Amino acid sequence: MTTLRTVSIIGAGQMGAGIAQTVALGGYDVRLYDIDTARLPVAVASIAASLARQVGRGGIDQAQADQAMARITTTEHLAEAGAVDLVLEAAVEDEAVKKAVLTGLLPHLGPDTLLASNTSSISITRLGSATDRPERFIGLHFMKPAPVMKLVEIVRGIATSAETYEAAVAFAESLGKTVTRAEDFPAFIVNRILVPMINEAIFTLYEGVGDVVSIDKALKLGANHPMGPLELADFMGLDVVLAIMNVLYDGLADSKYRPCPLLVKYVEAGWLGRKSGRGFYDYSGETPVPTR
Ligand code: NAD
Repeated sequence: MTTLRTVSIIGAGQMGAGIAQTVALGGYDVRLYDIDTARLPVAVASIAASLARQVGRGGIDQAQADQAMARITTTEHLAEAGAVDLVLEAAVEDEAVKKAVLTGLLPHLGPDTLLASNTSSISITRLGSATDRPERFIGLHFMKPAPVMKLVEIVRGIATSAETYEAAVAFAESLGKTVTRAEDFPAFIVNRILVPMINEAIFTLYEGVGDVVSIDKALKLGANHPMGPLELADFMGLDVVLAIMNVLYDGLADSKYRPCPLLVKYVEAGWLGRKSGRGFYDYSGETPVPTR
């Protein structure tokens, strides 16, 4: 059985920071790397704030938060990021970027290092084949926010070994997560179902069937969803939502996955949702204000 103690996270964005926090709370030593070094102190500050909220809610005590914080280090060097038991890639949802990250890491990996990707939709088989160890490559898809959401979707590429799968399941469960197993088809299970629904909500807005508030209210109160689909799109990041629709559209060659032109336009405008301050809602004030 593969024993993991040290974990690197590549990409210190929304997901990378949340995963680093979760993994550190699970007792692992974490190294956080980002090509944009300015993101590293921002991620560390957001982890500290998130741990403080967990303490405030009574989910963990102050000692656990302090220990988790002490287990997280940042690095500006891929060579340091590679010298661990598990490297988890959580960079932007772009296949070329992910492949470049992986090939950049290869010379620095130990012979037994496991590789995982947090991709929301991109083929694990294709990403794995860009490495020297497709049998030790797997999809570990954490949900957002990673410290809160219970599920980790585990995706086996065609070459992923049974030992790697078992190590991934044991790792996710050691973090207190529940796993679900998905086969390696575009967007796997969660986003194959969720993201076309969000895209349909954007079409509903685009065609004037309802405004932002009506659409979100309809799904929250009419279908018992905790967040409306447009609110959820802003939370995920509209660039991430568009990237997933494009993976579905290209990968399944079916027009039912056509990204809504309004989604494309928002991304072109840099209106990416919460992380950029504006999407289907404007986040510049105290409470989000619908933009349509
Ligand atoms: P994000 O934009 O918040 O962060 C991406 C980070 O990757 C940025 O800090 C960026 O500087 C960094 N990066 C870009 N190129 C890099 C490189 N070459 N090397 C290292 N770092 C690089 O995006 P995110 O929402 O955190 O998404 C990250 C991954 O997690 C994506 O694959 C996404 O599909 C997946 N994911 C996202 C969500 C979600 O709801 N946002 C949920 C689950 C999984």
